[in-house]
Amino acid sequence: MLNSTKKPVQLDNNLPQQCLSKEQLSTLNETIAMQNAVGFDENRIAIVGAGCGDIDLLTIKAARAIIGAQAIVYDNLVSRDILQLATDDCELHYMGKRYEEPSATQEQINLKLLQLNQQGKVVIRLKGGDPNVFGRGAEEALFLAQHGIKSEFIAGVTAALGCAASAGIPLTHRKVSRSVTFVTGHNCDDSAVEWGGLLASKSTLVFYMGKERAADIAHGLLKAGAKLSLPVAFISNGGRNNQQVTTTTIKDMVDAAKAITVDGPTLLMVGEVVAIGQELADCMSSLDFGQMVNNLPLEHAYG
Ligand code: SAH
Repeated sequence: MLNSTKKPVQLDNNLPQQCLSKEQLSTLNETIAMQNAVGFDENRIAIVGAGCGDIDLLTIKAARAIIGAQAIVYDNLVSRDILQLATDDCELHYMGKRYEEPSATQEQINLKLLQLNQQGKVVIRLKGGDPNVFGRGAEEALFLAQHGIKSEFIAGVTAALGCAASAGIPLTHRKVSRSVTFVTGHNCDDSAVEWGGLLASKSTLVFYMGKERAADIAHGLLKAGAKLSLPVAFISNGGRNNQQVTTTTIKDMVDAAKAITVDGPTLLMVGEVVAIGQELADCMSSLDFGQMVNNLPLEHAYG
């Protein structure tokens, strides 16, 4: 499972697919290299967010760190496109964690970072989404600091933001949702979560790692007084070309979760904003945009 080789390598088969051509990648690579942006300190280990979809959601700063790296320790949410930005002699070390599959332990990952740093390499730790949203970025940074190594975080587009945008669901919407709460679905039984508090805050709830815990989540929310009709969306492979969105309600969310058989990560969103997303999608699908704009004065079209 753990892989430590030089490129060209057979990248892990389960990694999200590549969608850019070699020529597009090399143009992107050159464009980034030409940018005059604030760099990062090569003596530190950069703990980098890769964004939650394909390469489109990578920041320029993250891309610059990848291109400048001599060793990359990456997880299973990082797409192939993104790894292809690394130089040919950069070492790629896969150390991912997958639900109910043999995975690298946190200790092994920490030690790998330490080892590579001691070899004098420019090392980056590359993680899906943002490194500190259920990403354990700070655990790694603390471990490194305790061993005399500085690190820095490079932000990434976390799944909640990336999936909401690509599924057309607003995370907040006036009069419907006053806040957004990111919740881990991991170990979310009755005792671990303040279900009443989550509902009371009129928040859009975004559960990471929640699909497998759909029954616990539905149970917790209903017990705290949620309506059976509260809208729910499962977004699988958000922001990738195989994205799948399933909308339902709390009442049917357990069956809906079981029916999702697609490989890849799934995010769970609970809240009235899901219905706003559906309204928008319905509205757009019945819209002949050219006709609207041509036939109506602008204040009618946009007012
Ligand atoms: N650090 C990551 C989250 C890691 S936890 C971030 O900021 O996004 C892993 C969970 O994130 C998955 O179980 C899933 O719930 C969610 N996730 C990450 N990428 C996703 C994607 N592209 N589509 C749907 N869910 C995603």
